[in-house]
Amino acid sequence: LEPGLVDYLRVPLRTITVNLPVEMDDGRVQNFVGYRVLHSDLLGPGKGGVRYHPEVSLEEVSALAALMTWKCSLVRIPFGGAKGGVTCDVKGLSRRELRRITRRFIAGLGDNIGPYTDIPAPDMYTDAQTMAWVYDTYDNMHPGENNLPVVTGKPLELGGSEGRDEATGRGCVFALERALALGVVPGLEEVGGARVAIQGFGEVGRVAARLLSERGAHIIAVSDSRGGVLAENGDNLDLDAVAAQKAEVGTVVGLPETRSITNDDLLALPCDILIPAALGGQIHSGNAEQVQARIVVEGANRPITPEADDILSARGIRVLPDILANAGGVTVSYYEWVQNIEHHSWPLESINGRLIARINAATDRVVSRWREFPRDCPDGSERLCTDLRTAALVEALARLALVVEQRGIWP
Ligand code: NAD
Repeated sequence: LEPGLVDYLRVPLRTITVNLPVEMDDGRVQNFVGYRVLHSDLLGPGKGGVRYHPEVSLEEVSALAALMTWKCSLVRIPFGGAKGGVTCDVKGLSRRELRRITRRFIAGLGDNIGPYTDIPAPDMYTDAQTMAWVYDTYDNMHPGENNLPVVTGKPLELGGSEGRDEATGRGCVFALERALALGVVPGLEEVGGARVAIQGFGEVGRVAARLLSERGAHIIAVSDSRGGVLAENGDNLDLDAVAAQKAEVGTVVGLPETRSITNDDLLALPCDILIPAALGGQIHSGNAEQVQARIVVEGANRPITPEADDILSARGIRVLPDILANAGGVTVSYYEWVQNIEHHSWPLESINGRLIARINAATDRVVSRWREFPRDCPDGSERLCTDLRTAALVEALARLALVVEQRGIWP
């Protein structure tokens, strides 16, 4: 890449910070801070989730927005990269307080979001209900227009797409199956029979667990923010029981016939496939040596730090990178946006058929890039010099570089 292009793509196009004074249920006024970052609009309007979490910061949102740029480029959908968030702990907030925070946030962003400028979606601790409030707020600010495409991940009744809620977990499984079939992990050609540990039992982790189990994998452990559970017999968790426990008690911990473990224990379990599907930075220089999986599938965004990436790579543990492994969500968000613009709704089979085709094609491109890398490392060892993440980034950046050349730098 040209050095100037690197400088251009390293920083976001636009960052916005909004202060949100919100009246709480007890009458107090509390100030929240929200962010929206548009990293790139080279390929189209910004696209990216909105996260509600105590650790949300401008730095983190900016990093996640850049990941969205690479991700959209990699799966070839016509969106740029964006991300947003509000620093808050949803566990201490009522539904009405969350609605007021959301409305105030969207009003504060004003015309910096829009169907053809920047399109939010769900992320950690936001869901279809949150997106319904985003839509309603924007629609009240822009009466008389088709505002449905301003946000994706909406409820089905409000222009949401079939399959959107499962899309990220489903895409994760599609990418994993394809990569295994292409031989990225010697001796592990399919998910059937594999032992799987999953960190995070939310929208991504829960769906990945169910789909993998349906394909004959053994889900031996799952976790949430309060800890994890390991199947007592070391074999299969009863996923219906896990989901019921999570819904009733608020955590998977304490499920009968399971052993309680910590999140650190889960990451170090002997297994074939490890899926971090919660927060970023979970596998770091302090615990990467303990990972025993043969492949780590990044359901979450940036769950592995760069230092840990090097450690895993040196240990021969493959990593299916986030910009490929969790791209199913933004892919079906794109389908939702198209359906909203066309005033159509596509059936689930059509959505899932398009999803698998797109994820498979992206996985093929990444794996063939990876195979092109030189195999003789400077230290003379046989192992591949570089990893699937680098291959995915090269693939994504090559396309962006081409588009910059075609468009030219404005003016
Ligand atoms: P979610 O809010 O539905 O679930 C998050 C899960 O993580 C919950 O089970 C929660 O208990 C658990 N968790 C929170 N803190 C934890 C901790 N410290 N240790 C272990 N578990 C913890 O969120 P989600 O939509 O499933 O998103 C999970 C990850 O996937 C995030 O990194 C998100 O950016 C990424 N992602 C989500 C989508 C999507 O469409 N939902 C798309 C792409 C990427």
